[in-house]
Amino acid sequence: MSIQVLKPKFHIEECLAQVRECLEKGWTGSGFKTAEFEQKWKEYTGHANACFLNSNTSGLHLAVNILKRKYGWKDGDEIISTPITFISSNHAIMYENMLPRFADIDEYLCLDPKEVEKNIGERTRAVMFVGYGGRVGQLEKILQICKEHKLALILDAAHMSGTRVNGVFPGTWAGVDVTVYSYQAVKNLPTGDSGMICFADADLDAECRKVSWMGINKDTYSRTSREGTYKWNYGVDYLGYKYNGNAIMAGIALAQLPYLDEENAYRRKLCAIYDEVFSQNRNIHIIPAPHRDECAFHIYEIAVPNREALLSELAKNDIYGGVHYRDNTEFSMYTYAQGSCPKAHEITKHIITMPLHMYLSETDVHRIAEIVDHFCK
Ligand SMILES: *Cc1c(COP(=O)(O)O)cnc(C)c1O
Repeated sequence: MSIQVLKPKFHIEECLAQVRECLEKGWTGSGFKTAEFEQKWKEYTGHANACFLNSNTSGLHLAVNILKRKYGWKDGDEIISTPITFISSNHAIMYENMLPRFADIDEYLCLDPKEVEKNIGERTRAVMFVGYGGRVGQLEKILQICKEHKLALILDAAHMSGTRVNGVFPGTWAGVDVTVYSYQAVKNLPTGDSGMICFADADLDAECRKVSWMGINKDTYSRTSREGTYKWNYGVDYLGYKYNGNAIMAGIALAQLPYLDEENAYRRKLCAIYDEVFSQNRNIHIIPAPHRDECAFHIYEIAVPNREALLSELAKNDIYGGVHYRDNTEFSMYTYAQGSCPKAHEITKHIITMPLHMYLSETDVHRIAEIVDHFCK
C-alpha cells in the first residue's frame, strides 16, 4: 500500500449520523449545527468569539477586511508576513489592496521577531503570523513588538487546531486581534472545507457575522418578524461576501472534534520516532518545535542536502513526501519581494514533509525513517 504524506481520518459513523440529522431536519445551510459547533469550539479553545466559515482563506480575508475598516488602514499599507506559508496568508492581504511585506523566518520556520522589527516602517499596520506545522514559534515576542509599535496581530492558525502552550491556546493570548483556523480536507480537524474566525473583540465578531453573509443585517427582522414568518425584511450594511459555513461541514466538525486531542497526541508520538532516528544523522536537520509536548504537528519537516533525490527515493518505495512550502517570494505575483528573505529562500530548497497521519503505524514510521536515514548517510 502506498503511503501518502497527508491523509485525513474521518470517524465515519459519527460523521454520517451528523449529516443524517441535517438532512432529516432539512437544514444544511448556516445555523443549527454551525451554532452548535461555534459553541463547542469556544468551550474547547477558550476563545470568546467564534464564527464558522467556508474556509480559513475566507477568514484571513475577513480578518484583513474588518481590521482595515476598523483602523482606517489605506490601500498600499503593509502587513508583515512570512514567505513560508500556503499562499492564502498573503493573498488575503492583497485582496484588500494592502501589501505583504515579507520578513525572514527563524529556526522554527515561523516569522523571526528580529526580522519583523527590522521591517516595520511608516506604512506597517499589522503582522500576519503563521503557526507553521502547529508551532507557536516566537509568537510571544512578536506580540510584544506589536504592542510597542501599535500593530494589529492576525494569527493564521490553519495548522494549530489543538496547539496549546501551558494548557492555553495561543490564539487566546491578549494582543492577538484575530485567530483563523482551517478545517480543510487534510488539516488536523478535517471536514471537507471550512474554517473558524475568532475575533478577540465581540463587536468585530458581530460585524464578521454580517460581512461573511453578504453584509446582511438581520437585526431588523429579528426585531419585527414573528416566529415562522419569512425573513425578508433585512438591511444590508456592508459589501459582504458569501463566506458562511454550512451545517453539513459543522456536523462533520462536531463528529471529529472529540478525537482531536488524542489524534494530536498520536501525531507527537510518530514525530518522536522520526526525531529519534534523524537526530543520529548529521545530514538531516530536524525543524525544532517549541513546547513540543503541546504542539499539534500538522506536518513534520526535515531539511536535507538533496531534497529532490530523497523525494524520488521515497517514491521508489511507494512513499510520498511533500514540500511545505515554496518561498512565496518566488511566485511571479510576489517577485517584488525577491531577495528579501535569504533564510527562507535557502531552506525552501531543502525542506521535505514526512508522511504524518492517523493511518500510519509506529512500524510504518520506523520503516520510513530508516529509508530516509540510510539514504542521507
Ligand atoms: C490550509 C492553509 C490555509 C488555507 O486554509 P483553507 O481552509 O484551505 O482555506 C491557510 N494557511 C495555511 C498555513 C494553510 O496551511
